[in-house]
Amino acid sequence: MANLFESRPVHADTSAVHAGREDFIALGVHAPPLDLSTSYPLGDIGEAVASLDDLVAGRAEAPNSFYARLHNPTVARFERALAQLEGTEDAVAFSSGMAAVTACLLAGRERGDHVVAVRPLYGGTDALLESGLLGMSTSFVPAQEVGDAVRVDTALVVIETPANPTLKLTDIEDVVRQAGEVPVLVDSTFATPILLQPARFGARCVLHSATKFLGGHGDVLAGIVATDREWAARLRQVRILTGGVLHPLAGYLLHRGLATLSVRVHRAQRTAMELARRLSNEASVTRVLYPGLPEGDPLGLVGRQMEGPGSLISFEIDGGLEEASAVMTALRVITPAVSLGSTDSLIQHPAALTHRVVSEGGRDSGGITEGMLRLSVGLEHVEDLWDDLRQALHAGLGKPRNEVVEEVAMGG
Ligand SMILES: *Cc1c(COP(=O)(O)O)cnc(C)c1O
Repeated sequence: MANLFESRPVHADTSAVHAGREDFIALGVHAPPLDLSTSYPLGDIGEAVASLDDLVAGRAEAPNSFYARLHNPTVARFERALAQLEGTEDAVAFSSGMAAVTACLLAGRERGDHVVAVRPLYGGTDALLESGLLGMSTSFVPAQEVGDAVRVDTALVVIETPANPTLKLTDIEDVVRQAGEVPVLVDSTFATPILLQPARFGARCVLHSATKFLGGHGDVLAGIVATDREWAARLRQVRILTGGVLHPLAGYLLHRGLATLSVRVHRAQRTAMELARRLSNEASVTRVLYPGLPEGDPLGLVGRQMEGPGSLISFEIDGGLEEASAVMTALRVITPAVSLGSTDSLIQHPAALTHRVVSEGGRDSGGITEGMLRLSVGLEHVEDLWDDLRQALHAGLGKPRNEVVEEVAMGG
């Protein structure tokens, strides 16, 4: 069968549905085969040794998959599909987002033991970088100071856009220019390849916690890095040696998740745009952080770098942890839970939960406050989500001031 993608580039919606499925007609299947083998029969010893050598060298494919820590055909389909969506040569999947971050840092050590990172970052990434666990030291700097912080032994520049949890956007092209020779890793978990393809702006490694939007149903833990062939080979070698492989069933579920990615991302984004607008008119909400609001995108990156503002909203309420948890407990449709990018809406308190592991100074410089809640908008109807938020703000914080004002006005 002719390869759909060889003839002409197709839109992301089409790639999401067809990528990694090019051989289905030839195979006579309509769903990806799920290969759970841990090892593979070795017909000819010469071919087996050649395959082993290929895989250990970091190649994406070999005639014999040999052993499941070296290669799995179901996971490889998901990797090809994600690379297609990101517009990169290759992609390498891991057992979690943090396993993917770890592999990138270890693969980067070839260049040196120093990392430059821009806060805020996902709490786990921040804690890993600050811990020095991998024998690397990190300079945390604002995005405009990356150039000054880069040294001869800098292995990697690490950024997140939109950043977790403040939704701050970073100009990738500008950071890449400042980084010069040093590879830039963009954690693009919040954007998904539907809204942003960081490689187009010069990012060498594009990382996803696939646990979030790519899986999309809150039932798979995974990570993936989309990159060029050279980095992919290094990442595969690290993966073989450290063992952070993705289970084939997870690979299957993620590949299935990709098919609806565009539909899910666009629908949730539409709802989030409306909720962000309404939240910013709510008196008990002191600040709304959302790239779709003018103050949330000072650099004008939505439309230029990112196709849309996405479906995560952070907002600050009039109060601290106690008031925030009162709001969370009063919610009935929205689930108070960490993680994001699921079919259902989730809300959490970054300072106490996902970013608890970050040092106080790190939280301050990242703009993570005690009154901040992070909402991941799901696929529920906008009016049900709004009713739920309104009643929970009301119950958790007492009557919103604007309502009191309205009543006073009506009363006389
Ligand atoms: C969740 C998350 C991670 C870590 O991924 P896991 O799959 O939980 O290991 C990394 N980066 C971002 C932005 C995340 O949201």
